[in-house]
Amino acid sequence: MYSAMADLARLTGDVALREACERLWANTTRKQMYITGGIGATHLGEAFTFDYDLPNDTVYAETCASIGLIFWARRMLRLEAKSEYADVMERALFNNVLGSMSRDGKHFFYVNPMEVWPEASAKNPDRHHVKVVRQKWFGCSCCPPNVARLLSSLNDYIYDTDEDGKQVYVHLFIGSEFGFEAVNNAVTLKQQSALPWSGQVKFNLSLQNKTDSASFTLLLRIPSWFQSGEPLLKVNGQQQQYSKEKGYAKVERAWNEGDTVEWVLPVETHFIAAHPNMRSNAGKVAIQRGPLVYCVEETDHDELISSLLVNPASEWAERAVPDQLGGYVMLEHNGAGINLPSLWQNDDLYRQQSRMETKPVAIKAIPYYLWGNREPGEMNVWLKQNS
Ligand SMILES: [Zn+2]
Repeated sequence: MYSAMADLARLTGDVALREACERLWANTTRKQMYITGGIGATHLGEAFTFDYDLPNDTVYAETCASIGLIFWARRMLRLEAKSEYADVMERALFNNVLGSMSRDGKHFFYVNPMEVWPEASAKNPDRHHVKVVRQKWFGCSCCPPNVARLLSSLNDYIYDTDEDGKQVYVHLFIGSEFGFEAVNNAVTLKQQSALPWSGQVKFNLSLQNKTDSASFTLLLRIPSWFQSGEPLLKVNGQQQQYSKEKGYAKVERAWNEGDTVEWVLPVETHFIAAHPNMRSNAGKVAIQRGPLVYCVEETDHDELISSLLVNPASEWAERAVPDQLGGYVMLEHNGAGINLPSLWQNDDLYRQQSRMETKPVAIKAIPYYLWGNREPGEMNVWLKQNS
């Protein structure tokens, strides 16, 4: 409905409707969206609840809802080319949506949790909907075909051009080819991207009339996850100054056959905190590397993963794992664990404790979209911090 509202606002010029879209967007994405781009906090009615209510374990965050959010973001981008819309599109696509499908492409999550405890999913009626392994196709299979149509139409989400071909936007950094009519020439833009693993993006231009040039403004999104200064832009190997407009780097020039553009935005790992009003994540952090949210899984740890503590002063080491799960970058961290079985020998449920006792634990994190592809077990996106 919101997607249609945004289309109507654009086609009719209805200012009040457009402002309503903007208010709904701001509320949805700044107060009711999971870090993975999931929306819909409760399974009762598969619905929103209230601001900052984003439980990690009873979550709904249906795959279809994230895809709907991407449809809506796309329409908002057409209303106004602002990078925050494309940022949300990327967040939902690379995390919630990709994570909904198994590596074999035959099993799907409808619900996309931030935390699973398999026994709770099996035995707590409030958590039956949170599955630990992806499900086969079944009768009411809304999510799998929604994923199929999104991925097979992904080309519609990467670029935009205005009617007279004077401005060309690149919203997403995904290998692709885009053809458009500039004022005085037909242009093909070929994109090669190493994201999300590393921040090297390259464009090659080819023109229909190769002896002539094509004048247009190229606008490249500056992702919200890149906060280490300014991304580097090179044209034909030479560093190029650019102006900024609503989150996009802007280069206006007459382009020639064979011109190249390089967009360099190093991918780094950061801790992410949630707004203090989000009660579920007080004192916790998530891990994000470029556009990818990470998580920890039981299969990589001997300790209870709910007992793990990260050390804010300790960096995450990157380790390429090319031969598992299609290839990915694992993150490793010198953290701690509070699960000390020796302290709990008497089978007590509670015990006196003056200060938390911990032991060193090597924490391993994998991209969220890959979770649940090995042995079923516990998974957590948000981790407690060791002070
Ligand atoms: Zn669905």
